[in-house]
Amino acid sequence: MSSGDAVPSEAAIRRDVNQWLEQHWGPNVGLIEWRNKLIDSGGGVPDWPQDWYGRGLPSSLCTAIDDEFDRVGAVGVARIGIRMLAAATLLEHGDDGHKSRFLRRILTGEDTWCQLFSEPGSGSDLAGATTRADFDGDKWVVNGQKVWTTSAHHAQWALLLARTDWDAPKHEGLSFFVIDMTQGGIDVQPLRQMNGHASFNQVFFTDATIAPENLLSNIGDGWKIAVTTLAHERRGADALRRWGRITEREGRIYDEERAEIATVMEPYKWYAQRAGRVDLVLPQARGSGCIHDPVARQEIAKLLMLSQVSQWTAQRARAAQQQGRPQGPEGSLGKLAASHIARAAANVHTILAGADAMLSGSDGPVDGIVAEILLSVPATSIAGGTDEIQRNIIAERVLGLPKEPRMDSGPFRDVPKNPTR
Ligand SMILES: Cc1cc2nc3c(=O)[nH]c(=O)nc-3n(C[C@H](O)[C@H](O)[C@H](O)COP(=O)(O)OP(=O)(O)OC[C@H]3O[C@@H](n4cnc5c(N)ncnc54)[C@H](O)[C@@H]3O)c2cc1C
Repeated sequence: MSSGDAVPSEAAIRRDVNQWLEQHWGPNVGLIEWRNKLIDSGGGVPDWPQDWYGRGLPSSLCTAIDDEFDRVGAVGVARIGIRMLAAATLLEHGDDGHKSRFLRRILTGEDTWCQLFSEPGSGSDLAGATTRADFDGDKWVVNGQKVWTTSAHHAQWALLLARTDWDAPKHEGLSFFVIDMTQGGIDVQPLRQMNGHASFNQVFFTDATIAPENLLSNIGDGWKIAVTTLAHERRGADALRRWGRITEREGRIYDEERAEIATVMEPYKWYAQRAGRVDLVLPQARGSGCIHDPVARQEIAKLLMLSQVSQWTAQRARAAQQQGRPQGPEGSLGKLAASHIARAAANVHTILAGADAMLSGSDGPVDGIVAEILLSVPATSIAGGTDEIQRNIIAERVLGLPKEPRMDSGPFRDVPKNPTR
């Protein structure tokens, strides 16, 4: 696909993409081979910078490219999950060495990533992390524990926030690393959730090591990078409903994509339910006859309005970013809206299904999906920072209200900490 400095029109983009797909696309190619070709063309991540596999296009035009891919059933790059938080963080803060080592294999799907932030004693209070990294003159040595780590059981690499200075104030003693998850010294133990899935893990470090070149921040300056990762995570909350699509098409590439979804994408297979499945509301209302019930109609209308307004807010935030504004607290507004929508959708699903909403598996409405929605929606209010934390951010950074009183100034060593056991 051709690339240049001027932003092309949507019609030109569609023409260009179609032509390229006609020449190159076919379903009997290997998944990794195809994705490498796509990455080289700049069409895999067209909104990324031209120096790093993209075309620097605004995301409004990327939707047109996605449409053209969908039309012919062409497979895209592995643009899903924590790996995309890693990519966004590396693009913003990595040097050329980091970018060339990690970005391509993120996009081909060869490497899976996880995010080692939360700890038993520091989830909302992320800057209170006590997992330590000490430099022994040759390499960093990591000891401690993380928890809630999505995908850690099959990740090759992870983003790690660890304490490197105990005498600096809380936010100034953290450093940001990329750590190899396949080494000894890292013990990953799965956790099972109430919806039956096991996406999370506890991760224990005993003298795990990190090469000096995998320090992403300056020493003690890791908080700044963690904030970037979190802002991307919050902004991504409205995209959950598109995750984990499986097709039934025939061809080698689809077989390989299905195998990928069944393994490394497996932790995300309930994420669409976690977002509330607003898309199922109208079909369910029509199918059950509740579409004629005035109370149900009111709730459905409120939900659809909320959902539409939130999409417009997300579009406004994206447009502002494309004009050069950095990620800001509007990510928190979007994240909070996603929680409201998920809860409102779960409520509407229970109105439509009645007591049957409690039946799981093939006994329940939509093959148990409604029950899975009810059990998964609470995660939206927790993951990536809880609703209360988003409200604090909005209060302090958007509305300018006074900050909460701080009890954690001075050297981190002396700050009272949550007990971890
Ligand atoms: C689906 C999912 C995926 C996740 N994936 C990952 C992952 O891959 N990597 C990772 O590192 N973490 C992950 N997490 C963890 C997530 O980031 C934390 O659960 C979250 O930040 C909350 O931390 P906590 O669970 O320790 O709760 P706590 O911080 O203990 O909070 C408990 C309660 O207190 C409230 N609270 C805390 N502080 C305040 C305050 N200052 N003001 C008002 N209320 C407050 C909270 O809102 C909450 O209701 C995931 C979580 C979920 C649900």
